[in-house]
Amino acid sequence: MAILPIIEAPDPRLRVVSAPVAGVDDDLRRLMDDMLETMYDAPGIGLAAIQVGVPKRVLVIDLQRRDEPAEEGAEPVEVREPHYFINPEIVWASDELASYNEGCLSVPELFGDVQRPARIRARWLDYDGSAREEAFDGLMATCLQHEMDHLEGVLFFDHLSKLKRDMIVKKLTKAKRQKLAA
Ligand SMILES: [Zn+2]
Repeated sequence: MAILPIIEAPDPRLRVVSAPVAGVDDDLRRLMDDMLETMYDAPGIGLAAIQVGVPKRVLVIDLQRRDEPAEEGAEPVEVREPHYFINPEIVWASDELASYNEGCLSVPELFGDVQRPARIRARWLDYDGSAREEAFDGLMATCLQHEMDHLEGVLFFDHLSKLKRDMIVKKLTKAKRQKLAA
């Protein structure tokens, strides 16, 4: 496995619409393994292939739930539960919305409250290429919708008001200038 460089906004590649995957093979599984390692290393809870420069409809998610330790005062136990989504589609979304303060590995250190359907039902291909369908709510629903936006070239701040969006774009452009000057 390898840690891949993560593309950061305003890189135009993040605006590319990713292409469907024709078949799940070992090359694709290697990409998903690398994406997962990259995501854990960052650290983050979700990563779309385009964020490492691959315009394929593939994403990985692990909410990395932390369980209470058995002993008092000990470090919380991190539970790793990786999810792989190939060619994901949302087949149903609730009218009810939920708001979450979202961030993104491609938009470092910036956050914004985004409203999305609170519950969704999704269909996708799994790590082994088998078809899956499941309903999600809570952080999983939010995270999956955020990552699926990446497949359309959409970033979380596109959902914010123009004022907040302009503020984030300005900060990103400034950060990029500073990086180029450094
Ligand atoms: Zn993101």
